[in-house]
Amino acid sequence: MRTPVPEYLHEILESCRGNTGGEVATYIPELGQTDPDLFGIAMCTPAGTVYSTGDADAPFTIQSASKPFVYAVALRERGLDVVNFHVDVEPSGDPFNEMSVDSETGKPSNPMINMGAITTHCLVGDSGLSPMERSEIVRRELSRFAGRELSVNETVLESEFKHRYRNVALASMARSNGFILLEPDDAVWGYTRQSAIVVTARDLAVMAMTLANGGVNPLTLEQVVPQWVCRQVLSVMATCGMYDSAGDWLSNIGIPAKSGVGGGILGALPGQVGIGTFSPRLDQHGNSVRGVEACERLSRQLGLHLMELPAPSIDAIGQQSTTESGAVLVALQGALTFPSGELMLRRFEEIPMGGDEIVVDLTLVPSINVVGDRMLREGLRRLGRDGHEVTLIDPYERIPNPVAHDRSEIPVVDDLETYEEA
Ligand code: GLU
Repeated sequence: MRTPVPEYLHEILESCRGNTGGEVATYIPELGQTDPDLFGIAMCTPAGTVYSTGDADAPFTIQSASKPFVYAVALRERGLDVVNFHVDVEPSGDPFNEMSVDSETGKPSNPMINMGAITTHCLVGDSGLSPMERSEIVRRELSRFAGRELSVNETVLESEFKHRYRNVALASMARSNGFILLEPDDAVWGYTRQSAIVVTARDLAVMAMTLANGGVNPLTLEQVVPQWVCRQVLSVMATCGMYDSAGDWLSNIGIPAKSGVGGGILGALPGQVGIGTFSPRLDQHGNSVRGVEACERLSRQLGLHLMELPAPSIDAIGQQSTTESGAVLVALQGALTFPSGELMLRRFEEIPMGGDEIVVDLTLVPSINVVGDRMLREGLRRLGRDGHEVTLIDPYERIPNPVAHDRSEIPVVDDLETYEEA
């Protein structure tokens, strides 16, 4: 059998191809040279499988889709407090090149618009670095997200830097308000070089999946940024990522995303998928017209909206039965999270006090999150306190350090047979 996913993706591409609305960005003259008909879609899974169709390997400049990654690097390097001091996380509702600041402090509204992005660019590396050194760090860091060495389109860099005055005005204001220390021209040159990094839709899908994968690149398995950074970046992408149509995007499509005037869009759905699209014609907000349509269809058809009802957790607790030797067997099934953990604890509650032998089977539990782990350990502690002898079946070491909350060791076996033999 061949997986139907590539054909499905191709159908999405073909169903959006006829939409030739929008205009290629021309405010950077070199971008105006792009072939407007190029169209590619790529999708990357947590296991590192990349599906792609159309012009998914066509190169284009990343532009504003670089902003989440540079924000991520700044967070990793400087920590949340320092970065928060320099740039807010408030949606501005303004176009990307507006002077959007907090009315009292003058702080840039968020890192997804130009003023905030120029500010976060300046937070990468030591303040004494040259603009080239800083922008090289940025290029190398973005390469780690993509899992391959990315280059810079020098022609686009030159073309945009010639028309830099609006961005220099934004950098000058950020400097005058005390949020950047670099010379505005230097800050804007580095930021413009960051925007001119060349990617493909396939790269964007892998980069997005890295953010959606707790910072681990699904191809190289490198931990590029820590998990807390991804949570922060994805939250800001969800609320501020799509220029002045961020609210419409979140309610309609519901995938944390960022677009760029080069025609790229990346979408990152935590734990599920990274999406990259490329089609150069833009709508009035600066978002790729066919990219938005493709994301809309993917979100609808694949149930990718962030606020979609999660998979039912009621099945997470399997049946309670008795083993051959007469022990109570609680076989858990499904991911152990807060709702399934709550069901598990209620199931434990049904076991009367007294000296029963209890076997809790984790064989069909694929994952346990932080709270699921706490609930399980505390549940086991309480069963022990009630006078029961508890054993875990945990062949895949879902509980790597089997100690209950009162620090008592929990006996672990690999399967029921081993338990019965012991
Ligand atoms: N380099 C572009 C600028 O600052 C990025 C714009 C964008 O993609 O939104 O104008």
